[in-house]
Amino acid sequence: MTASHLPDAGSPAVPVRKQVIAIAGNPNAGKTSLFNRLTGASQQVGNYPGVTVEHKEGVVRHGDRRIPVVDLPGTYSLTAYSLEERVARDFIIDEQPALVVDVVDASNLERNLYLAVQLMEMRVPLVIALNMIDVAESRGIRIDTARLSLLLGVPVVATVGSRGRGVDELVDICTAVLDGTVNALPQTVHYGHVVDEEITGLAGVIAENTLLDRRFEPAWLAVKLLEKDPAAAGRVRLMAGVRYGLVDTAAAAAVLRIERHYGEDTATIIAERRYGVAAGAVRQCMSRTVQSRMDLTDRIDNVVCGRILGPVILVGVVAALFFWVFKLSDEWAWLPWFGGWVSPTGLVNWIFAQLSALLAPARHSMPMLHSLFDAALVRGVGGVLGFVPLIFFMFLFIAALEDSGYIARVAFILDRLLRMFGMQGNSILALIVSGGLGAGGCAVPGIMATRTLREEKDRLVTMLVAPFMNCGAKMPVYAVLIAAFFPASRTEMMLLLWAISWFVALAAAWTLRRFVIRGEQTPFVMELPPYHVPVLRGVLLHTWERTWLYIKKAGTVILAVNIVLWAFMYFPRPPERPDGKAPTAAEALAHSMAGRFGRALEPVSELAGFDWRTNIALLGGFAAKEVVVGALGTVYAMDIEKGGDSAPLAARLAAEPDWSPRRAFAMMLFVMLYAPCMTTIAVIARESGSWKWAAFATLYSTTIAFVIALAVYQAGRLVG
Ligand code: GDP
Ligand code: MG
Repeated sequence: MTASHLPDAGSPAVPVRKQVIAIAGNPNAGKTSLFNRLTGASQQVGNYPGVTVEHKEGVVRHGDRRIPVVDLPGTYSLTAYSLEERVARDFIIDEQPALVVDVVDASNLERNLYLAVQLMEMRVPLVIALNMIDVAESRGIRIDTARLSLLLGVPVVATVGSRGRGVDELVDICTAVLDGTVNALPQTVHYGHVVDEEITGLAGVIAENTLLDRRFEPAWLAVKLLEKDPAAAGRVRLMAGVRYGLVDTAAAAAVLRIERHYGEDTATIIAERRYGVAAGAVRQCMSRTVQSRMDLTDRIDNVVCGRILGPVILVGVVAALFFWVFKLSDEWAWLPWFGGWVSPTGLVNWIFAQLSALLAPARHSMPMLHSLFDAALVRGVGGVLGFVPLIFFMFLFIAALEDSGYIARVAFILDRLLRMFGMQGNSILALIVSGGLGAGGCAVPGIMATRTLREEKDRLVTMLVAPFMNCGAKMPVYAVLIAAFFPASRTEMMLLLWAISWFVALAAAWTLRRFVIRGEQTPFVMELPPYHVPVLRGVLLHTWERTWLYIKKAGTVILAVNIVLWAFMYFPRPPERPDGKAPTAAEALAHSMAGRFGRALEPVSELAGFDWRTNIALLGGFAAKEVVVGALGTVYAMDIEKGGDSAPLAARLAAEPDWSPRRAFAMMLFVMLYAPCMTTIAVIARESGSWKWAAFATLYSTTIAFVIALAVYQAGRLVG
């Protein structure tokens, strides 16, 4: 083996490949014609050992080189169910050809690429002969071969087998691949993150428990086991020996999880995903001047992914989603409750109001305990849980759209745009889950959704800008401040905040990509899996997982932060007054640790309009933004102390002389943009693999937030 570009033959996982070219392809794609052109008169006909499938061998001459060529039986697939398929597959596995030339019928590209995708799965060096290009052209089909080559990661040569067009070029490329001057190792095939994760897991189990023959890729075997391929299972059984049971159990569990998620057979899912890869590749590199027959998904996609209608439909879908989320979570009372009706949000708020009333008698008998429970539990945790219905419906619709296949189309439509800003189409899911629709989401599942991104750099950038989106935790802050200072223009303000979050996120992505996380972006296939009616079970599972993360955060991190924050605001207690009266709550707060800290920051924060009390709330928000409103409420409630929160926080702030719309706006922007909450930071550290990026995220977003808040506040002062 001399090919230097192939991975080092000394490493155990890498097989030593034979200097043979195998020709694969669908029946009637023109394999034999090309084979005859390549080999001239040098062919021999025989049978494959042991089976009566005809077998042609010949030799390609290039200069004084002679390279053996084998014509494999024509197949549409590489499952083990027909003799031809098994022969072709076993030849590739057992004979280890240094190169497979896949003869693809260009006039029937999508269907033919299905086989190409399976060859890619086998990680065999591959060259695509785009045959029948004359037929394709005569039917008005144009194929961008350079783009196809980039997407699949392998050389693509247009040929006409019957007339010998492109054959010399094909020979040149093949020899270049054998010499290692041209790369032909295909891109990894992706099956959507649910299946991808199972493949990675199962491949690990296989690698651990089998004496892996170097002809096999663990990931390929994993795919085959998930497809329940009997021949591959037999091979694994041989290699695993006594440990086969472990592999088999892991495979069965993975199959069960996938089937439970999609409600369909894994073999069908994987086949569908392959068609998705083929369909995506075709849509990205083929243009038609004449419309030909198309199936339903194709016909829908022609509308949904269209240049003009696509974005219009997208906006429509987002608007519908907004409408339903708000109606179902808050505006419509549709849950039966004590003979009447209540909205889900109303229900949660009712529960916490009851709790607060229950605690009220303790206000005077146990002031400290009452203060702790009321601030940390009722206001803090209760305030957060009030947003659970909104988040639940948000995630429910997103999960349904995801499973239907529509989010893949959204990614497709927005890919070009997002690439200009240093992300990619698939970033959209992460941004939407993080709150990109402006109706509440959560950056924690959002950052986990970046796992679907192909490239580390794009993934990192997406992770770093996702927290700018308007997550559910920021909604209470906006709600209170808008109600207090912009009551007449709620919708406009929400739209403005939504637009600003996107503007900052895109600008930050662009800047990060230019100056911090630099590197070329490479194109890849964006799969367009067929449309599906979402399976309720899978959708609910996904929704529940994401919502539960949010609830769990309220019960743990946020509760803990609220308790700590409460202690900071409660202790140390102020000294007795000389006249013997109890100190007012305002004096107590000013005397507390939080009060001192807030004052210490005031000289700087004042530039952006924040006084020491706001500082206390914002400091709490470093831990979790859900805390900001609760803390603000506590700060002002403690300050006024007329025996309860008679006026809601919004009214109270509106009445404060040193609050103004300008200050409220600066504060909303600061809350939108400053450091992600603690949970998000921890997830960034885990998902990026380094605390460095988590620290970076904290610093750069706080800096951006302060600069923008300051600019807005000061500009507002100039304008008046
Ligand atoms: P195989 O089944 O893949 O071996 O395909 P063949 O090589 O037997 O070709 C099937 C038919 O397609 C034959 O009639 C060929 O002459 C014809 N054919 C092969 N390649 C081309 C091509 O590039 N253009 C056109 N127009 N016809 C071709
Ligand atoms: Mg043939």
